[in-house]
Formats: sequence, structure tokens, C-alpha cells
Amino acid sequence: MRSICVYCGSSHGLDPSFRRAAERLGTLIGQRRDTLIYGGGRVGLMGVAADATLAAGGRVVGVIPEHIRVREVGHNGLTELHVVDSMHTRKRMMFDRADAVVVLPGGLGTLDETIEMITWRQLELHDKPIILVNERGYWAPLLALVDHMITHGFSRHEYRSFFTAVDSVDAVYDTLDRAPAPSLPARPARM
Ligand code: AMP
Repeated sequence: MRSICVYCGSSHGLDPSFRRAAERLGTLIGQRRDTLIYGGGRVGLMGVAADATLAAGGRVVGVIPEHIRVREVGHNGLTELHVVDSMHTRKRMMFDRADAVVVLPGGLGTLDETIEMITWRQLELHDKPIILVNERGYWAPLLALVDHMITHGFSRHEYRSFFTAVDSVDAVYDTLDRAPAPSLPARPARM
């Protein structure tokens, strides 16, 4: 059984396919009796993924900082809800508890979390799989930006292998099953 950290919007986005993707991912996690690790709110795609995981029989662990608990409407029906002191503690706890990271469409918060996971891989702080769900091409501008950085010599070609973009949620588990088992320590001393 895996623990999957999901980053996604605290909004629903305008295209209903984003909500459907969050529902589908939550359902797949639940059907496998896996655990969803996420930001702990009820709002947006975050709440949709959490509710779908619970409805399908999975476990859901939320990690929410006290100061945004009201804004993101802390979810009261989770398997575990951790109220922590800061964004930093939240990110660290979500990372520690996760075997893999899956990114759905989202805004700047989602982008921040995603880039942090990729750059931590770049710094060899972990080698957990990172999967970007490029639903309806949502992440295409980010993928183009990474290619642009490589073209201009600010990023290395091999860094592109630190994450995998898939077209839909249905490809997530196949990609995870094919990913090499992490070999770096789960909690590196350098962090
Ligand atoms: P968003 O994608 O902006 O809707 O935010 C999704 C989640 O990312 C929310 O739970 C935010 O609290 C969280 N988040 C993580 N890092 C940040 C950050 N640096 N700024 C804003 N939100 C963040």
C-alpha cells in the first residue's frame, strides 16, 4: 500500500474535467486502499480528491497550518488531520509521509509545491516519483518553460527525467508501477 501526496488547486478551475480528474484520482487511490496525503482543506480540487478517496475506502491524511485552517476550511472527516505551525512544517510532513507525488491542475500554491519537489530531487534530497497530470494540456506551459531552461543552458537535460507528465489520471498508477524503487533515504539528514 502506498501513500500518495497529491498537490492540486484550492479552487476547482473553470474546466469541469479538472474536477473529474480529482475525483477519479481520489477514487483510484481509495480503491487500492492507498493513502492520500494532502493539504487538509475542503476547498477546490483538494476537497474533491479527499472526499473521493474516502468514499472509495481509502485513508486520507491532511496537513494544514493553523493560520490557513479557516481559509482552506479544514476537513473534519479525514482519517488523520494534522494542524501544524507553518507552511514549512506542512510541506515537510507531507513529503515525509509520501511514497510518491502526483500533481493535478492548480494555482501558484500547487506550482510552488511542485517545483519544490522537483528541485529537492535535483539536489539529491530524495528520489520519489513525481507525476504531473497534464489534464487537457494544463501543465504544457510549465513543460515548455523547463525545455526553455534546458535550451538556454540553465537546466540540465537529465533533470527532465525527475518528473513524468501523463495525459490523464488513468496513467498515474501504471507510471508509479514502472518507476524505480526509491534508493535515497526517506528522511535525509541534509534537510
Ligand atoms: P493553489 O494551487 O494556489 O490553489 O494552492 C494549493 C495549495 O497550495 C493550498 O493548500 C496552499 O495553501 C498551498 N501552498 C503551498 N505553498 C504555497 C505558497 N507558497 N503560496 C500559496 N499557497 C501555497
